Amino acid sequence: MAVPKQRTSKKVKNQRRTHKKLHVPGMIECSNCGEYTKPHHVCKSCGHYDGKQVVEQ
Ligand SMILES: [Zn+2]
Repeated sequence: MAVPKQRTSKKVKNQRRTHKKLHVPGMIECSNCGEYTKPHHVCKSCGHYDGKQVVEQ
């Protein structure tokens, strides 16, 4: 069985799995309200698209 020759430092240990942080795939943050929406779709909560108000609330 493989035995580690040296103790893994806290820095190296904490750098593991940092790329697996929670984020919603296929979703973007609305530039107006910060709500998660689908890319190339009008934001459902504020009606903005491409920095413009396209749907009146
Ligand atoms: Zn929005």
